[in-house]
Amino acid sequence: HSSELVYKRVLLKLSGEALMGPSEFGIHMPTCLQFAEEISGAIRQTNVELCLVIGGGNIFRGLAGAANGMDRSQADSMGMLATVMNALAMQSALEQIGTPTRVQSAIPMDTVCEPYIRRRAIRHMEKKRVVIFAAGTGNPYFTTDTGAALRAAEMNCEAMFKGTQVDGVYSADPKKHADAERYEKLGYQEVLARDLRVMDASAVSLMRDTSIPIVVFSLHKKGALLDVLRGVGTSTLIS
Ligand code: UDP
Repeated sequence: HSSELVYKRVLLKLSGEALMGPSEFGIHMPTCLQFAEEISGAIRQTNVELCLVIGGGNIFRGLAGAANGMDRSQADSMGMLATVMNALAMQSALEQIGTPTRVQSAIPMDTVCEPYIRRRAIRHMEKKRVVIFAAGTGNPYFTTDTGAALRAAEMNCEAMFKGTQVDGVYSADPKKHADAERYEKLGYQEVLARDLRVMDASAVSLMRDTSIPIVVFSLHKKGALLDVLRGVGTSTLIS
């Protein structure tokens, strides 16, 4: 089979929870290494330029902090710091298997990683480094989905790949309803109007405004990232 490029540059969004693996909390390094293998394999075989946004929900969510009596903005800062931890873990995993990476944080932390500089990030990607964008948008009251949408637009990505627990968007939760059907394609507007909750609304509307398609696929199938990059995997395309 050919390795012709369907996508030249994409952003991959992983939730923080994906990094927990079988644990109930935190970072499970074997799982990070599995993702790293998947990512570096896909890069080797397609030569795609890849950037990564990882959530923080496996460590801390601003809403949970606020529910616990913390000031929301303050709690959101903590949530953003959680995404930096995840970014560093994924950097470590990717570099263990020889994939060059750079972490850029929306909250400057110069002794730990680079600050976010758009043109520099583009340059890294041109040099085939995986750029991991940490700290979301850098602002409270946002999510890493929106951070991912923002970076995908700024990096001129051709698509945002959203890795989830299931291989697309279904009419109902396929784990609870055996007759749930997977949508092959959806429009942005449909996702918003029907509140399909694959991604938060501000992220979907930014992707709509910038005409960047969203590919929803499963993280759990081996080789799934490579398949969707080649345009042959199981997924739901939102465009
Ligand atoms: N967060 C934020 N601004 C952003 C991105 C994230 O304040 O631009 C905070 C927010 O508190 C959020 C937490 O970081 O709950 C973790 O991000 P998210 O919930 O998006 O992670 P995921 O669900 O993808 O694991």
